[in-house]
Amino acid sequence: MFKAIYLTKVENVFAASVRELDETQLEAATPGCDVTIKVDYSTVNYKDGLALTNKSPIVRTWPMVPGIDAAGTVITSAHATWRVGDKVILNGWGVGESYWGGLAQKARFRGDWLVRVPPGMDARQTMAIGTAGYTAMLCCLALEDQGVEPSAGEILVTGASGGVGSIAITLLARRGFRVVASTGKLVESDYLKALGAADVLDRSELAAPGKPLQKERWAGVVDSVGSHTLANACAQTRAEGVVTACGLAQGMDFPATVAPFILRGVKLLGVNSVMCPLALRERAWDALARELDPARLDAITREVGLADAQSVAHDIVAAKVRGRVVVNVNA
Ligand code: NDP
Repeated sequence: MFKAIYLTKVENVFAASVRELDETQLEAATPGCDVTIKVDYSTVNYKDGLALTNKSPIVRTWPMVPGIDAAGTVITSAHATWRVGDKVILNGWGVGESYWGGLAQKARFRGDWLVRVPPGMDARQTMAIGTAGYTAMLCCLALEDQGVEPSAGEILVTGASGGVGSIAITLLARRGFRVVASTGKLVESDYLKALGAADVLDRSELAAPGKPLQKERWAGVVDSVGSHTLANACAQTRAEGVVTACGLAQGMDFPATVAPFILRGVKLLGVNSVMCPLALRERAWDALARELDPARLDAITREVGLADAQSVAHDIVAAKVRGRVVVNVNA
């Protein structure tokens, strides 16, 4: 038996609880999965918040063990790459949506989905990073691959005090960029500056409808917010600048014009961590291991037990969470 968060929807009534489950149930819920993990840590990302509060249709099959991330130790494997004792990370692939996920003491995944914990990192650190931090790195790599360098100018990071935002600021500052953090929580200005932001912007300056072309400012953007914020970020991006779009905390809409793209050559790049190819995941995790200062990561991370994940979920959806929350599933 093992403990897990268990989500049910019966006759349209949603419920979430911590339950004891057995391995037969786990095997039945994870068809095609060939590696069993003893989970050490998981986390609460924004998407987990939506699943745990039933705020959006994240969960595709019921009942569901949520958790789009997990890190732990292989305890059985029928996959050629993985051996008992290997330390692995799982991010995305529909886990916590269509397949039982990481907010549990045991989980089963496809071996093809797993990434090895990079040397020098432990399971807790990988989940302090989680999908949020790995996505922040995917955005940094997208900027790098487009040739955006610190000499090109400032980088705007929106949703700055959240998981993606906090880690993006840290990574970009370490890469030598001048980072401007857009936040709805100006009280967190000192926190954002300690992470490496050179300046802090009130997010209300970006959140309302704006002109199709505005004064050119950003060489690059990491946007986890969407909606008018993304439209304004594009409208303020310098000629040939690059905007990476990964989130929708303000909204899924994109009320923009093509003006920045056709008149300034601005490039808008979508970032999808969920189905990201394995080689790019491994590149992102290797770069995180090299570049993310463990002390900075600790400073943005809070740890909770499995039973507390539900209340964190409500907080993250209400934008009350700063930085990252790791879940010790065995506490
Ligand atoms: P968090 O909740 O940790 O951070 C989101 C931040 O967005 C908040 O902290 C807040 O920052 C800001 N925000 C919240 N509500 C609003 C609003 N109404 N208008 C403007 N800003 C708002 O979430 P994550 O960092 O984990 O994820 C951020 C987004 O990225 C989510 O939409 C998530 O689904 C998406 N995502 C997408 C991935 C992908 O693969 N494409 C992977 C990971 C995340 P502040 O108060 O500082 O403004």
